[in-house]
Amino acid sequence: MSEIFESAGAIGHGSAGPAPLAGTHILLGERDRETAARFATALRELGASSVHAVDSLDAFISAGTAPPSPVRFWDAAVWDSGFGGPDLSLGRVLEVWRARHPGIPMVVTDDAPSARLAVTALRGRAADLVARSDPEGLAVAVARAVAERADPLGVEGSGQNSLRMLVVGAHPDDVEIGLGGTIHRRAHSGWDVTVLTMSGGGNGGDPAQRRKEAHRAAELLGARLLMEDLPDGSMADDRTTVEAVERAVAEVAPDVVVVHSESDTHQDHRAVHRATLVACRKVARLACYQSPSATVAYRPNRFIELSEVDMAAKLAAIDAHHSQAASRWYLEEDLLRSTARYWGRFSQTRYAEPLELVHERNAVLV
Ligand SMILES: [Zn+2]
Repeated sequence: MSEIFESAGAIGHGSAGPAPLAGTHILLGERDRETAARFATALRELGASSVHAVDSLDAFISAGTAPPSPVRFWDAAVWDSGFGGPDLSLGRVLEVWRARHPGIPMVVTDDAPSARLAVTALRGRAADLVARSDPEGLAVAVARAVAERADPLGVEGSGQNSLRMLVVGAHPDDVEIGLGGTIHRRAHSGWDVTVLTMSGGGNGGDPAQRRKEAHRAAELLGARLLMEDLPDGSMADDRTTVEAVERAVAEVAPDVVVVHSESDTHQDHRAVHRATLVACRKVARLACYQSPSATVAYRPNRFIELSEVDMAAKLAAIDAHHSQAASRWYLEEDLLRSTARYWGRFSQTRYAEPLELVHERNAVLV
């Protein structure tokens, strides 16, 4: 038997406001009937209109092609990675799903999501990866995937087709460390993200090599890269630096700019921060990310949720800076992970990146 059950009718969710999954139809590929029932209950708690559970890949793919009446389309799909076995990798399932059902987000479940599986999920453009033991977490991840699909900007009533974000860093890898997860998250929900790196980082190695690494890292995150050639170690908040940022602002016309904080022990970071404040005086929203050299005076007031997949993208982008890995203590994966995990306290998700909002002139959300 391939179809486990059809579960219809929302059972209401506890809090006020519209249920996040109201009116949605979810396709569930899950090997275990009891787990499928727990997932269906959690999804219906968040308002899902129907949950259609199947227990084979064939049924999953063909149900995706021809949803049962009265469902016209699926809003999201959930796939149990344990289905695959040695002959059917998660990467292959995601590839087939994406080819047959472009635009329908897939959340992957696993008994014990590993960093390696998160990388596979990232490459296959899964919306998220969650533990099979966490039905509530799964429902929240599905709700997030559906919301990003319906309103990829995450900005209700903005009236814009695509928001543009410019992220400024003094050296190659600064932006990835401070905001890599958020860049990935926004770029993959439809934002147009540009990274501006002010130097080739000549003090940290061969500039040609560092440039190549910087391009690869931006590509992994889904961002475009602009590079200036200011002197590594002796940047100033002078006219040259301001004009370099102004050129990028003129080219990108950003709705949001994110840069180093003033509360930073590195002189280049402070200079780039100050120059960006001047260059972005007319930009709607300006915020600061946290660098490894930020001081305790860095005071974030916004926290961007990251999924396992966003975290995997951040780590992959930082890893692209091969020439730095051996010599920089702050590039160690356990530190990067635990830092994001710590900030997750403030966003009720496992991982988050902090932002210190400097100014905002309208309701655009970072
Ligand atoms: Zn730096």
